[in-house]
Amino acid sequence: MKSCFVFGTRPEVIKTAPVYLYFKNLGEEVILIATAQHREMMDMMIKVFNIKPDYDLDVMTQNQSLNMIVSRVMERIEPILMKERPDIVFVQGDTTTALSACLAAFHLSIPVAHIEAGLRSGDLYDPFPEELNRRLIDVSCRYLFAPTKRAKENLLREGLDENRIFIVGNTVIDALELIRKKINMVSLRKELIDSDYYILMTLHRRENIGEKMRSILRATADFAQKNDIRVVFPVHKNPNVRQIVDEEVGKNPNFILIEPVDYLHFLSLLDGAKFVVTDSGGVQEEAPSFNKFVVVARQTTERPELIEAGLGILAGTSKETVYEAINEANRKNLNSIENPFGDGKSSERIYKIIRGDIA
Ligand code: UDP
Repeated sequence: MKSCFVFGTRPEVIKTAPVYLYFKNLGEEVILIATAQHREMMDMMIKVFNIKPDYDLDVMTQNQSLNMIVSRVMERIEPILMKERPDIVFVQGDTTTALSACLAAFHLSIPVAHIEAGLRSGDLYDPFPEELNRRLIDVSCRYLFAPTKRAKENLLREGLDENRIFIVGNTVIDALELIRKKINMVSLRKELIDSDYYILMTLHRRENIGEKMRSILRATADFAQKNDIRVVFPVHKNPNVRQIVDEEVGKNPNFILIEPVDYLHFLSLLDGAKFVVTDSGGVQEEAPSFNKFVVVARQTTERPELIEAGLGILAGTSKETVYEAINEANRKNLNSIENPFGDGKSSERIYKIIRGDIA
């Protein structure tokens, strides 16, 4: 059995690496294709997991449009898939890389497995373009690895064949458990900050860029000032995000703005935070493993499990609602909780399902 794994962005590396490593460590034939949709942040994560792509499509260009990424990935991945002829191609999540690789494999009649299938916000434009990517990927896959029961229900509601759907948990929990064993959280955190009392913040969603992001930042800045708490914020590399952050809080003494950090350091920051304000998907899934409450700074969510379990608030994106949600988060004290997104055994489940099918 020859398995091909494709990724191009930071979260895809984090969520694909544990599955790839599980297959590889069992002696399976594996091929790793990196598209480098986000060059720097992808490379940073590859180092953390100590993996080496067999192919690097190097698609990233300055001011790349979504259509440019699709066409470059499809054009460059096709000869590799034709030469390697894998038995299966794994894509993860909802990126333009995942959609393009899935479509290229589909055109070559190679079965595709989707890691993290079935997430839906219900709004085609939020997150954009990820909601469309997910839907297109899911209709074309042979294996739909849904992280939760809710994700499976979403797929069934769209009429997808139950025999293709498997609830396996989210592989991000495998990733964080892999890493957590190896690191000393406190000393890593000290390399970055000297504060023990802080909110951890990340923002990057395309649909938040503009007034929404400004409102989220203003609400957080107000709260931080009134409560004399720091905000540690690794700022995404997207120049549009950087410009807004710089204009809104660049000179704010309560904000500790840092470059994106590798996964080890990020988990150490999560471990020490009072709570989290984020529009990231992965961070929502990781926070419960560190008993951290999450303010989800978005209009919609494809991860309602977090809110339903009382581990986060869907805060919207206006200054008032975000401020209120932060206030509530500050009063929460989560004790040891079960993570609704996974138990760290997703890779093993995926392996057994695929191995049982493909000789
Ligand atoms: N992350 C990281 N370093 C950072 C910020 C985030 O390693 O400076 C990790 C985080 O732990 C999570 C992932 O990146 O697993 C989330 O990536 P992002 O928010 O870019 O994408 P999303 O999850 O929203 O697709």
